[in-house]
Amino acid sequence: MAKNDNAKAPVLDLIGGARKKKASVPTEEATPAPARKPAAKAVAAAPKKEALDLLAPRKNNRKAEPAAAAPAPEPKPVPAPKPAPAPAPAAEPAADSGKVMNIKAPITVADLATQMGMKPFKLIAELLPMGVFANPGTTLDSDQVAALCEKHGFTYERVRREKGAGVKAPVEEIKEPEAVAVEEEPEDALKVRTPIITVMGHVDHGKTSLLDYIRRTKVTAGEAGGITQHIGAYTVEHAGNTLTFIDTPGHAIFTEMRARGADVTDIVVLVVAANDGIMPQTKEAIMHAKAAGKTIIVAVNKCDLPAADPVRVRTQLMENDLMPTDFGGEIECVDVSAHTGAGIDDLLDLLCLQAEVLELKANPKANCRASIIEARMEQGKGSSATVIVQSGTLKVGMPFICGPYSGKIKTMLDDKGQRIKKATPGMPAEVSGFLETPNVGDELVEMENERAARKLSDERLEELRQQRLTAPRRSRMEDILAMMGDGAQKAVLKLYLKGDVQGSVEAIKKAIMDIESDKVECQFIGAAAGPISESDVLLASSSDAVILGFNVKVESNAVKAVKREGVQVKIFSIVYELIDQVKDAMLGLLEPETRETVLGHAEIKQVFKLNKGKAAGSYVSDGKMLRTAEARVLRDGQVVFDGKMSTLRRFQDEVEEVKAGLECGIRLADYNDYEVGDIIECYSLEKIKQTL
Ligand code: GDP
Repeated sequence: MAKNDNAKAPVLDLIGGARKKKASVPTEEATPAPARKPAAKAVAAAPKKEALDLLAPRKNNRKAEPAAAAPAPEPKPVPAPKPAPAPAPAAEPAADSGKVMNIKAPITVADLATQMGMKPFKLIAELLPMGVFANPGTTLDSDQVAALCEKHGFTYERVRREKGAGVKAPVEEIKEPEAVAVEEEPEDALKVRTPIITVMGHVDHGKTSLLDYIRRTKVTAGEAGGITQHIGAYTVEHAGNTLTFIDTPGHAIFTEMRARGADVTDIVVLVVAANDGIMPQTKEAIMHAKAAGKTIIVAVNKCDLPAADPVRVRTQLMENDLMPTDFGGEIECVDVSAHTGAGIDDLLDLLCLQAEVLELKANPKANCRASIIEARMEQGKGSSATVIVQSGTLKVGMPFICGPYSGKIKTMLDDKGQRIKKATPGMPAEVSGFLETPNVGDELVEMENERAARKLSDERLEELRQQRLTAPRRSRMEDILAMMGDGAQKAVLKLYLKGDVQGSVEAIKKAIMDIESDKVECQFIGAAAGPISESDVLLASSSDAVILGFNVKVESNAVKAVKREGVQVKIFSIVYELIDQVKDAMLGLLEPETRETVLGHAEIKQVFKLNKGKAAGSYVSDGKMLRTAEARVLRDGQVVFDGKMSTLRRFQDEVEEVKAGLECGIRLADYNDYEVGDIIECYSLEKIKQTL
């Protein structure tokens, strides 16, 4: 069944933030955990005084990842019928022994009953002995569907979309290009592709100037006057090679793309001003590039200035674990000036050489895939986006799927604003023909025809809807625990530390690294002084890390990103508190402290205004409401409040408990933003003794 987590509370305290509870164990009185994702939780509810917890939904705007809610898929059975939701079924199912059911779980009781040709109440009754108190709208997971199918003599085949990169799908068997692992292309089909380069570095160190200089001087003259349009990326020719530069300098887009799973950059050019040396954002950029495992080439800029000290820059690079080749290391450094152009050719030479070393290849004949690096909506023109082709060839008229939406390429422009008919791997292009504006980082994938694209779009939208309904809360701790379960390797707790001054950062990092555990290993993806910024959150998100802050603020943009990305942030003002919590977390991995049990659900039917605040007139749909228990409000699958139940009434009377099928009035702590249709989930927390 779905839930067997027994995560440990101190860990959650750290990792899961204020939600100091974890394993959700449905009892006989509860339906399986319904729609929910953690949302922002009141700061005041943080378990320790010094700690600020920010807990939020996890990457809900990311493209659907097969692992989350969907059951482990298996190849579709032979004569593949239409993927779910399948049409209405045979009328006499129970007798229909041996009939194959192609179902894509999760599925509601009502839908399953329809497919089996049964009445929902029958299935509801059969679910009871399985410990599931369902109603027709309850969603069933794969195991539950399998059990019911077996009982009624159906052979249950999980429907999943087939894999198969490079093979175009006939309409009836829509392939899911998104789920396709990058398959080995035959060696002879692979052609060298254009490298994609991102420029990063501290503000004012000359990133934009460098990109401008290269674009101004290197774009082939003659083509539209040699002037590039700003489409988010441009290409230059150098010594017979083509290079693609992402035209938005800085690590924000780089990390955002990575956080969304679209890692397009091949080489990072780290710009360091020779008069200024390594600054905080240079360090950040180094961290981001390293976390992504990218090749770094350092451009020591502003070498025309009298105050330039390129040797000092190299020494500082060494101090940051980047050993320049001049000092016997591996990091290429080149002295340049974005003003005079000195050294720029050397930089481009190095980039070409590095691209060669990386052996960047792609099959231009493969099914086309491209990543969205910019997207916009213009009045009268509709949505357009800049994409970089990763494999295959992008062509005008090509039907595609991008995120959950289908489309067909209407027009394509290159970086000189000229209409083009096709774009090959590594090339950027501005594309129109989207139904909806896509997200940066979404992948555009070629489909065989528009019908197939639309059908897949319908499926993806349905899947997203289902995920919102049923996505179990999967914290990274569960993943770590699962990994520990096989006993083979140490669990890794990734941390990103921000402190007020470098001294405290170093001290805390050392103290944490000194904590000994043979089960858990702490890994720092970064440690730096300064407030917690949006880019810190994106870095933590893309690396699945927890952010620890010591005496620092969380910038307001970062707070939004925390909510959006579901990254956990803990702020401390006392060193030993921080160390203790990390220690607790590591011990907590060994034993849970609290376990959550869902007691029941009530749907809000009416919102009443009272003298002070509001109350929710609700109908208990399953399980029960308990006045002394905890409760959360779920809206469209998102948790919008989590706290204590304060009042529970039947008519005028205050009561301790209200059972399924009855109406009641509910007030939750000081919460007042109830909306009709919200679900109140009542749950209890059980303390579990720690053994360590
Ligand atoms: P960014 O914030 O990293 O994109 O930096 P900019 O490209 O906006 O440059 C910041 C400032 O440094 C501008 O005033 C540029 O004119 C100046 N600058 C950039 N590159 C050079 C250079 O190579 N030499 C000199 N002297 N100034 C430069």
